[in-house]
Amino acid sequence: MEYFTKPIGLLAPVPDLLRNAPSLIKMKERFPRYIGRAEKTQVFSRRLAREIILPKALEVDTRSHRDPGYVDWELWRQINRTKATIGYIPEKLGGLGWSGLDAFVFLEECITACTGISAFFGFNFFGVLCAFVEFRPDVCLKVIGEMVEAQRNDKPIFWAWSITEASAGTDAEDARAMATMKCSAYARKLPGGYSINGTKQFCSNGSLADYLVVTVCTDRSDPLHTMATFFVPARTEGFSVGRIERKCGQKASQTAELHFDNVFVPDENVWEPPGRGLRHTREILSVTRGIIGMLGLGIARGALERCIQFASSKKVRGHYLIEENWVQIAMADMLKDIMVVRAKCYDFAIALDTIHVLRLLENLPVKAALKMVPKAFILGESLQGLLKSPALARSVKGLKDWIVTDERVEYCACQGSAIKVAGTDLAMEVSSRVLDIVGIEGMSSCYGMEKTFRDAKGAQIYEGTNQANRLEVFHQEIGRGLGL
Ligand SMILES: Cc1cc2nc3c(=O)[nH]c(=O)nc-3n(C[C@H](O)[C@H](O)[C@H](O)COP(=O)(O)OP(=O)(O)OC[C@H]3O[C@@H](n4cnc5c(N)ncnc54)[C@H](O)[C@@H]3O)c2cc1C
Repeated sequence: MEYFTKPIGLLAPVPDLLRNAPSLIKMKERFPRYIGRAEKTQVFSRRLAREIILPKALEVDTRSHRDPGYVDWELWRQINRTKATIGYIPEKLGGLGWSGLDAFVFLEECITACTGISAFFGFNFFGVLCAFVEFRPDVCLKVIGEMVEAQRNDKPIFWAWSITEASAGTDAEDARAMATMKCSAYARKLPGGYSINGTKQFCSNGSLADYLVVTVCTDRSDPLHTMATFFVPARTEGFSVGRIERKCGQKASQTAELHFDNVFVPDENVWEPPGRGLRHTREILSVTRGIIGMLGLGIARGALERCIQFASSKKVRGHYLIEENWVQIAMADMLKDIMVVRAKCYDFAIALDTIHVLRLLENLPVKAALKMVPKAFILGESLQGLLKSPALARSVKGLKDWIVTDERVEYCACQGSAIKVAGTDLAMEVSSRVLDIVGIEGMSSCYGMEKTFRDAKGAQIYEGTNQANRLEVFHQEIGRGLGL
């Protein structure tokens, strides 16, 4: 990336968060710690993106292209030592204590540097989120304890979330579509648990996973009313990884086929019983679709920054390409769209902190416990044993259900869908347009611009295709009012 020399974007002095999202200036007056921490997160993330991720982006893409199972573990260790792999865990318990806003700020910087590498370690959060939204206190604390310990010992722990099947991607995410879903995987009730059989597909990090969260129905003729969520450690007998997909982009992030051959899941690992699986999926999507919108924004920004760096050093007709009037207008046009989508992304991130699952950390009993109770006790086995008590577990889950109501899940899913479509369509548009500006040299892999184009496509498809996400917005915001 020798052509990255101008002090803009990833190379700009930081923080410029408030300049990029001016509504945060007023918020900083009211909530100086919240916004101040996001500014610090931006400093931290930009440095990580610039110094660790960007220099490796093209090399890892090429090596993963040759071998889809390739992992640069030294790169993972470098990232892990910054604690970015457990940034979402409260500071008191060993993480970086990120809010939703911090996480979005972090994502923007890292994705701008490389989508594949960021997805490789960042999508782990989606799997862990599956455990957090369950809000079973003993499970959450066990997961946190294990992740913190692993980070300290430089030992990777990967989580994967698997809902997609061969003939059911979009169908697994929406009630209307699930009613006619053609399931290949199914779970059969046995004494003390369930036995899972079948194949799941396109699972991010599925090939690296230590733990999987899987949705499977118990009656293939009625998936909507029998979909359940299971927690499956990858070492369970009968589980195996199939093909690792050869994708056009985001190659550093593995996407795998998963096989289940009489995989036994004990009752205690049934995280949502038959009939509740879709609700679990919807709750995850109500967070992750907005995250994918931010990811799209990062791809667009990464493409534009590469184009700016290139056009500042490329001479045409005796002057720099960036001095051409039409180039300046095109760049301003793309930047304008990035600014608009960014505002909505940060708005969504703040909503996650205010009305969604992250609000729980602001709740008095949780806040007080984090402040007053020693870390060793919180993560110790005696507390986890105590929290297994059904009455206690019920009351903690009740607290969560009180904040994250079904209405809020659906509201955030719709908001997230709008952002997902806006961000990922922008990624596709900008990464295509910069290639028009640069011309044939943009096709060369050494500039990373053709890579942003390849990376953008997958983002339009996963977390529900953009068509399905558009329908989500239609049904919730227009169709419902008209009885459609
Ligand atoms: C890189 C990558 C990573 C992924 N990671 C994961 C993961 O970690 N876990 C996981 O479970 N899945 C994952 N997926 C799968 C992803 O979520 C699905 O690809 C996505 O939901 C779309 O499903 P599909 O590809 O089966 O398309 P389909 O659902 O088969 O859709 C095909 C076409 O039909 C349209 N369509 C489908 N249903 C409807 C409908 N009801 N109304 C209107 N149009 C419709 C779609 O818009 C699309 O144009 C990943 C996919 C990719 C590419």
